[in-house]
Amino acid sequence: MKKFSFFQFWQAFLFPDFCQHCQKLGPMLCESCYQLIEFFWQEDFSQLFAKNFDQVYFDQVRVMASFKQPLSSLIKALKYQHHSRAAKFLAQMLYFHVNINYQTIDIITFIPIHPQKRKKRGYNQSQLLAQELSVWSQKPCLKLLTKTKNTKPQAQITDKNQRLKRLNNSFAISPFYQNALFKQNILLIDDVITTGATSNSASQILKKNGVNSVIVLALASKS
Ligand SMILES: [Zn+2]
Repeated sequence: MKKFSFFQFWQAFLFPDFCQHCQKLGPMLCESCYQLIEFFWQEDFSQLFAKNFDQVYFDQVRVMASFKQPLSSLIKALKYQHHSRAAKFLAQMLYFHVNINYQTIDIITFIPIHPQKRKKRGYNQSQLLAQELSVWSQKPCLKLLTKTKNTKPQAQITDKNQRLKRLNNSFAISPFYQNALFKQNILLIDDVITTGATSNSASQILKKNGVNSVIVLALASKS
């Protein structure tokens, strides 16, 4: 167990946490709000998401729960404020509520965002999650992918076909890892999954570079 440091003590004292859903003072999600979440536990959703594509590149799609309250409040906190504490909290939830055999995973990675967007926001929420999950699972978190096109957020595009098309070739492998992916088993972190197009496109480039398997892991699904 990690010790509660002096810094953490003052941080908790000066900036106490409160439930992101009901505002009650305490953890980021209080016990009663936590109990409202219906976790999917073991289900693999790959068949369901595969229907959206002619070619499927991921091997499994694991989702923690539906994108609805109170989980969505916590995910909002990850995107807009309190991001580092929300990432810690949510990664812990991923670790304990989604049954993944981490012995079979070689590398944890994440859906990248375009450098311009990262600069504006200051961080990539999927990267924060992946890094925190790496602490729990003791598996390395590496930035395998880069985003080459600065695309509009998926949620702003209503036409499904357009969503799927525009993602083609929008990812690349980081040059540093190009020769290190052969036969690797990857856990790919996404925050919220809608059609699965982003994850499928990222899985495609990973497979092209010799990756053996890709398990997509998302906090929540909007579909
Ligand atoms: Zn609450």
